[in-house]
Amino acid sequence: MEQDKDRDKDKQEKYVKVCPKCNSIDINIDLKMAWLGEASTSKCNECGYTNTFFPEVEVSRVKDFMKKK
Ligand SMILES: [Zn+2]
Repeated sequence: MEQDKDRDKDKQEKYVKVCPKCNSIDINIDLKMAWLGEASTSKCNECGYTNTFFPEVEVSRVKDFMKKK
């Protein structure tokens, strides 16, 4: 069953988190908060922006997204 799940994953476009402030994709997910029962917090390594929600874009569109800067 889990193998089927992985196969479906490969078919889908992969997404990366993008910082809404500086458009960086260098996002660090803080898993320590998840252990505490909190929503996992992500932090931008570029500008230090922190939020529980970051917008995500398809990997193939990241280059276009970053051109908007
Ligand atoms: Zn940022």
